[in-house]
Amino acid sequence: MTRNNTLRFHSRVIHAGQTPDRWEGATLPPICQSASHLHPTAENLSQTFGGKTSDHIYMRLTNPTNRVLEEKLTALESGRGAVAMSSGMAAITNACMALLRTGDEFVTGNSLFMSTYVLFANIFKKYGITARLVESTDLAALENAISEKTRFIYLETIGNPKMDVPDLAAAAEIAHRHGLPLLVDNTLATPYLCRPLELGADVVIHSTTKYLSGHGDATGGVVIDSGAFPWAGNDRFPDFKPFIDRKGPLAFLDKVWREHHINFGTTQAPLHSYLTMVGLDTLALRMERHLANAQQVAAYLQSRSEVAWINYPGLLDNPSHAVADRQFGGLGFGGVLAFGLADQAACFRFINSLQMVYHLANLGDCKTLVIHPYSSQYLSFDEPTRQALAISADLVRLSVGIEAVEDICADLGQALDSI
Ligand SMILES: *Cc1c(COP(=O)(O)O)cnc(C)c1O
Repeated sequence: MTRNNTLRFHSRVIHAGQTPDRWEGATLPPICQSASHLHPTAENLSQTFGGKTSDHIYMRLTNPTNRVLEEKLTALESGRGAVAMSSGMAAITNACMALLRTGDEFVTGNSLFMSTYVLFANIFKKYGITARLVESTDLAALENAISEKTRFIYLETIGNPKMDVPDLAAAAEIAHRHGLPLLVDNTLATPYLCRPLELGADVVIHSTTKYLSGHGDATGGVVIDSGAFPWAGNDRFPDFKPFIDRKGPLAFLDKVWREHHINFGTTQAPLHSYLTMVGLDTLALRMERHLANAQQVAAYLQSRSEVAWINYPGLLDNPSHAVADRQFGGLGFGGVLAFGLADQAACFRFINSLQMVYHLANLGDCKTLVIHPYSSQYLSFDEPTRQALAISADLVRLSVGIEAVEDICADLGQALDSI
């Protein structure tokens, strides 16, 4: 039984996809640690391979624990189906590869997660695929970059570390006018803050490694399909025919799963799905605190003379403030912010002086995390690319955790005192 249709988000995040009656009353799904599954008859296995049952065959294809997570995330994002994968990058790679052939193009905002940028700008290029990068919030540029070779539009709900927030409903409208699907990486917003499919997007992708699991203990990714994009009869997608014949509205998800996920072997480990679900139970509560803390930390940093600039959509003078306020229903503006100190040396002194805040490469953890992207994730990038991605040497990125905000500000404050 899925008790999910009438519940509010705070309740749905806990109860969606839960079927304790099927698990001998267990309130958490069992970790089904089995590489393959028994079949009662030869006829049954043949039918399962033919897609006529949803029985499990082999862990690389599907797994019962992963399926519970898929059902939960489908419900939370108002989708129609999902595939859980081993990482956010696995989800992005499989979703895009399912749509791309040699010679194709796609249009993407230029405010991209670091590995997504590498995949789009460097790796796809090796296969003759062109990513047309435009300013994420410039809708006219987005539309102008569309050609007859375009296969999709790709955006992130909140850019990182640019903190820009594109208008997803308007972008979906442009995409649909040209017969294209809109894919959205919703990792930084989470379905608590924004549900892109409800705004007209066609596919949502998450790195579940971040807020959804929330405790820095699991990696994972997911592709969620709205089931609403009309693939049939669309001249841009002649290669979708067998998937439409097989799965109708879920043709895209079937292509992602059948053609890429199971053959690339981007399997999610059931333990990671389990940990992600334990984390999900507190997503709404954690997000409330992340959002409130980030807003207060931004205000605190504004009061400090050592801070040259702050980029956070929650600040009134931020270029993305109005769109974010409307799109996120006034709930908040995300838990990540970027700010500038005098130079790289000041950033290093600041980071080295922090006592409670963790210095590491991650975000969306319940702990407050800091990093200097220019000298770490973007170390090997050339200067023009760093500039295009807004990665400056004076930039510090902070993922605000759920500790007492007074303690976060006190730690930031004493580290600013010592630069
Ligand atoms: C972390 C992240 C990813 C990649 O996810 P992994 O789980 O690390 O592979 C993709 N997009 C965004 C926005 C992220 O923050």
